[in-house]
Amino acid sequence: MQYVNSLLELIGNTPLVRLSTSMGDLPQDGPLVLAKVEYLNPGGSVKDRIAERMIDAAEASGELQPGGTIVEPTSGNTGVGLAMVAQRRGYKCIFVCPDKVSEDKRNVLKAYGAEVVVCPTAVPPEHPDSYYNVSDRLASQPGAWKPDQYSNPNNPRSHYETTGPEIWAQTEGRITHFVTGMGTGGTISGVGRYLKEQNPAVQVIGADPSGSVYSGGSGRPYLVEGVGEDFWPETYDRGVADRVIEVSDADSFAMTRKLARTEAMLVGGSSGMAAQAAKVLAHELAGTPEGKDAVIVVLLPDSGRGYLTKVFNDDWLAQYGFPVEGTSRDGRTVGE
Ligand code: PMP
Repeated sequence: MQYVNSLLELIGNTPLVRLSTSMGDLPQDGPLVLAKVEYLNPGGSVKDRIAERMIDAAEASGELQPGGTIVEPTSGNTGVGLAMVAQRRGYKCIFVCPDKVSEDKRNVLKAYGAEVVVCPTAVPPEHPDSYYNVSDRLASQPGAWKPDQYSNPNNPRSHYETTGPEIWAQTEGRITHFVTGMGTGGTISGVGRYLKEQNPAVQVIGADPSGSVYSGGSGRPYLVEGVGEDFWPETYDRGVADRVIEVSDADSFAMTRKLARTEAMLVGGSSGMAAQAAKVLAHELAGTPEGKDAVIVVLLPDSGRGYLTKVFNDDWLAQYGFPVEGTSRDGRTVGE
């Protein structure tokens, strides 16, 4: 019989899938663009990897004791990963999130058995009910432990130990370029360092929403979720990226929808952003001697299921003035 004893055994070892139509016309002999499909992790995102590694380390160091409580200010993929691992290992989870977080996102965490504490957005940070104060108070209770994905070295380490080696083995060492978005910077720092240790010629390329600090912005708002920052996280290795490609929200969303419609890959906006950067890079390399043997791996962090009312909703896109495939409101044909 073929089975595993726990869902946690299925974290990682995600496949590489070739991207074709979504990358536009590329020469037959390269570059080859391969997507590392992280939504196939059991919790639905790349964050399962860091959740497991951070919890393993906290167990080993004694910071997390049997029956303890994990407290993290998150409402997204990291929360799902932590909730999944915590549940299987008998820990309690409390996630603190601002009231602007959608009910759907909170309900996902509750479905795994986690507790969700919602804080008002409309109070100053020093207020006792603020997001920061509530999570600090909960994390200082006996038995509580806060992973803090923005400063925890086990975040990048999980990618150094799993994602990086998987990509190296799957491409048989032929990877020439690695492209990924950056939030905490854990993915690019861990994977980038591993790949460069195997072959210093591997180019590590960050994809970043216009406005984020990683591409020289000031923290101006953008709509793609999970990537870009308005500060420099400790988990980001500032020496790892050879280059950062800035991508607009419009291009990220257009590519996100194209991945669903042409590659049957229902992924989130940060995946579209990374794939768009990979496409720009592939077209720069196409036709050059370097392009022939180029193997570009682009990491797609999560599924599009969590964004059906946003990126995949025509009215939402139109509300922000982004083009929708087919016919636009003024009758022009847009997209593909
Ligand atoms: N995409 C999504 C949807 C995410 O949730 C995250 C993590 N914040 C990222 C990309 C970026 O990954 P990292 O934090 O490893 O830089």
